[in-house]
Amino acid sequence: MALEDLHKKLNEFYPEMVEIRRYLHQHPELSFKEVETARYIADFYKNLGVDVREHVGGGGVIARVKGAKPGKTIALRADFDALPIQEENEAPYQSLVPGVMHACGHDGHTATLLILAKAIHELKDELEGEYVFIHQHAEEFAPGGAKAMIEDGCLEGVDVIFGTHLWAPAPIGHIQYRKGPIMAAADRFVVKIQGHGGHGAQPHVTKDALVTGAQLVTNLQQVVSRRVNPVRSAVVTVGTFESGDAFNVIADTATISGTVRTFDEDVRNSVEKEIERIVKGTCLAADCTYEYEFFRGYPPVVNHDAETEFLVACAKQVEEATAVEAVDPLMIGEDFAYYLQHVRGAFFLTGADPGTADPAFPHHHPRFDINEKAMLIAAKTLGTAALQYQQP
Ligand code: MN
Repeated sequence: MALEDLHKKLNEFYPEMVEIRRYLHQHPELSFKEVETARYIADFYKNLGVDVREHVGGGGVIARVKGAKPGKTIALRADFDALPIQEENEAPYQSLVPGVMHACGHDGHTATLLILAKAIHELKDELEGEYVFIHQHAEEFAPGGAKAMIEDGCLEGVDVIFGTHLWAPAPIGHIQYRKGPIMAAADRFVVKIQGHGGHGAQPHVTKDALVTGAQLVTNLQQVVSRRVNPVRSAVVTVGTFESGDAFNVIADTATISGTVRTFDEDVRNSVEKEIERIVKGTCLAADCTYEYEFFRGYPPVVNHDAETEFLVACAKQVEEATAVEAVDPLMIGEDFAYYLQHVRGAFFLTGADPGTADPAFPHHHPRFDINEKAMLIAAKTLGTAALQYQQP
């Protein structure tokens, strides 16, 4: 049977999967600059004799494998960009590029999908339908690669999409899912307060932008605690505050920036407005003026119920997936969100704790690493979903 053959092939190809992941780990490239990585991916398909399309939506790569029999079209997605982080791990496969590191596991995503594609390609005579392998550039940096790839047709004819994130905080063998929102909308705001600077000894003839900014940071804490329905969720985090140049000078300006995370559009819109109301009121009281900008990042990742249930059933058929569990949503952002706005599907987490530190170093940390076995579990889960989705 095709499914057993697929699992067998994935086991057999696992050493190559590790080799690919380690090569990519040594050669990371930043978002929108992944020229060599995209070429590496395209070459892999060309060597297999698989139909590949490059420069999709800018820097993405898609490959299509057709089964011998008619059926549905299943898309599987992996991202391939790295981060501006200096790796601090000492491994034989550590990054060779100063200041750039695969610190989110996208090297593992790519190796997983390439080897899964190779296995599906080898079994194509036994298979139904069509398989679309979406290798997406620039997940880490908004506006991201997903939106542009979709606009360039990567979802044409696609019936369903599945994707996973290797997840170091979760133990190996765990598949984590959630119906509905699993990841948040990730937005950014900037407030520039204009006061009237002056001598530190004569505050009465100035408008102190620094004091006004300090009040604003405090007042913004009311957005989540007083303005958002407590059974809904939101995060408002002020991440930067720049003001003042000298100890005896009253600051002329203050600039504050932060991030907003939400799960639904109503809360997202209302938080955007409530922040401005508080900025306006705080500045009015201090007789300062302001500029307020709110930049929308990725929308929330919202899984479709039926496809999530289907995925859970598939994960349970993977021998190494010892726990398939529902989890709370995460406040991080992911541009997989865009695919799910266009076609049905599900995004899930594949436990990848390397077991080298307790707790595991988090994603985006200079000492982040994955348990490479997670790639095999991810490939089997995605592959099972792809094949089983053909069954009526
Ligand atoms: Mn990531």
